Amino acid sequence: MVELTGRVIYAGEAGYEDARSNFNARFSASPFAIVFCQSVQDVINAVNWARISGIPVRIRSGRHNYEAFSVANDALIIDLNDMEQMQVKDGKATIQAGAELVPIYETLSAQGVTIPGGSCATVGITGLTLGGGYGLLARWKGLTCDSLLSVEFVTAAGKVITANATQNADLFWALRGSGGGNFGIVTSLSYQVHPIDKVTLYQLSWNWTEIERIMQFWQTWAPKTDDRHTSILKLVPESVGSLFVVGQFVGTEAELRQILEPLLALAPKAISIETLPYIEAVYAFAGLKPGYPKRLAHWHGSQTKFKNASDYVAHPLSADGIATVINFLKQTPSKNIVLQFDSYGGAIAKIPSDATAFPHRQVLFNIQYQTYWTKPQDQTAHINWVRNFRAAMQPYVTGGCYINYCDRDLKNWQTAYYGNNWQKLKQVKQKYDPDNFFNFEQSVTK
Ligand SMILES: Cc1cc2nc3c(=O)[nH]c(=O)nc-3n(C[C@H](O)[C@H](O)[C@H](O)COP(=O)(O)OP(=O)(O)OC[C@H]3O[C@@H](n4cnc5c(N)ncnc54)[C@H](O)[C@@H]3O)c2cc1C
Repeated sequence: MVELTGRVIYAGEAGYEDARSNFNARFSASPFAIVFCQSVQDVINAVNWARISGIPVRIRSGRHNYEAFSVANDALIIDLNDMEQMQVKDGKATIQAGAELVPIYETLSAQGVTIPGGSCATVGITGLTLGGGYGLLARWKGLTCDSLLSVEFVTAAGKVITANATQNADLFWALRGSGGGNFGIVTSLSYQVHPIDKVTLYQLSWNWTEIERIMQFWQTWAPKTDDRHTSILKLVPESVGSLFVVGQFVGTEAELRQILEPLLALAPKAISIETLPYIEAVYAFAGLKPGYPKRLAHWHGSQTKFKNASDYVAHPLSADGIATVINFLKQTPSKNIVLQFDSYGGAIAKIPSDATAFPHRQVLFNIQYQTYWTKPQDQTAHINWVRNFRAAMQPYVTGGCYINYCDRDLKNWQTAYYGNNWQKLKQVKQKYDPDNFFNFEQSVTK
C-alpha cells in the first residue's frame, strides 16, 4: 500500500485550522487531511494513495481561489505551497508550483529580469498562470501564461510528464488559460524571463462627480495606448468621494506624460507620477512598503470575506451602460466596494484566441466587481449587490468572464470562461484524465 508522505495534517490535529483555511474566509471546508508535499515524489504518492483509497482530492497552491474550489469537505488536499524553489538560467526561470508572487519577483528582479504576473503578494504562481494571469505588465509582455515555456505535471495515474510546445502540446495548450485543478498536478513551471530595470507608476484622482466623463474617456483610450503602458480604472462608491486611474509604464516619466496627456487634460485633482526600480513598483501595487521582510507576512487567519465577479467588454459601454454603473455605485451596501476596469489590448491581443485555452484576447477591458465584508450580517447585502449589478450589466458587456475570477453563480460558465475553446478542452480532459479523478464544482469534464 502506498503511504502519504510529506507534511500531513489530519482533521483534528494541531495546525488543522490553519491548514484548511482559504484566503476568502467566506468558505470553511473540513477536508479529511491536507498533505503539504515537499517533493514531486510526495505528489505522486498522494495521487496514488487517494486513487487506491477512493478518497476525492483537491489541488492547492496559493489558496487564493475566489470560490474556494481548492478545498472540499472530506477530501485529501494535495498542497504544493511548501515547494517554492526557483532558478534563473539562460533567460529562463524554473519555479516550483507552490511559490507565491512577490518572492518570485524579488528573486527575478535581483537578476534584472521578471515575468508578467499579478499584483497580490501571496497569490500562487500556479493558479495565476493556469488561468491566464493579468497584471501591470500585461499590455507589454502579455498574460503570465504567454511567457510559459514548459510544465512538469503529475497525472491521475501518478506519472510525471512534461507539457510544452513539442511534448504533450495539447495539454500545454490547455494549461495556458483553462484554470487549475482540471487535468492533473503541476509541480513546476518554466518561463521566458524579460529584462526590466526602472518603471514609472502613476495615480490620478478626480472627484466622484466626474465619473461619467472619466469612464467614457478611459474605455476607448487605455486599451489603445503604447503597449508598455497598462492602466486600471478604479471606481468606488459615491460615498467615498473620489475615483482613480492607476497604471505602470515601462519607460521614463517624460514618455509617460506624453501618453497621459489627454487624461491629464481632464484635470485630475491629484497627480502622482514616480519612476522607481521595478521591485519597488511591485511592492507599491502589492500594498507593501519597500524593504519589507523577504518572507512576507502571510494572510492566514484573515477574516476578510468577499464576493467578486467579472465581465469582459469588447465594445465601449453605451451611455445606458455607464448610467447603470453610476446607479449601482450610488447605492452600495458599504464603502468596501471596488469596480475595477483592467485594460487589455497590447501584447494580450497579439495572440490568437484559439492559440491557448485563454480566449478573451480581443477585448477592451475586464470589469471586476469586488465586495468585501467581515461581519456575517453584512454578507447577503454584499453578495446580492454583486449579483444584481452583474445582471443589470449584461445588455452592455460582451459575455465572457475571467476564469481566475471564478464565480459560482455563472450558469453557462463553460462558454463564459472558455468561449469556442470549450470543445477542445473536453478532448484534452478525455485524453489526460478520462476517469475525472481531478474534479470540482466547475471543472472541465470530457
Ligand atoms: C487578493 C487576490 C488578488 C488577486 N490578484 C490577481 C491578479 O492581480 N491577477 C490575476 O490574474 N489574478 C489575480 N487573482 C486571482 C488568482 O489568479 C486566482 O485566484 C488563482 O487561481 C489563485 O491561484 P492560487 O494558486 O493562489 O490558488 P489555489 O486556490 O491554490 O488554486 C487555484 C486553482 O488552481 C488549482 N491548482 C492549484 N495548484 C495547482 C497545481 N499545482 N496544479 C494544478 N492545479 C492547481 C486549484 O485546484 C484551484 O482550482 C487574485 C486573487 C486574490 C484572492
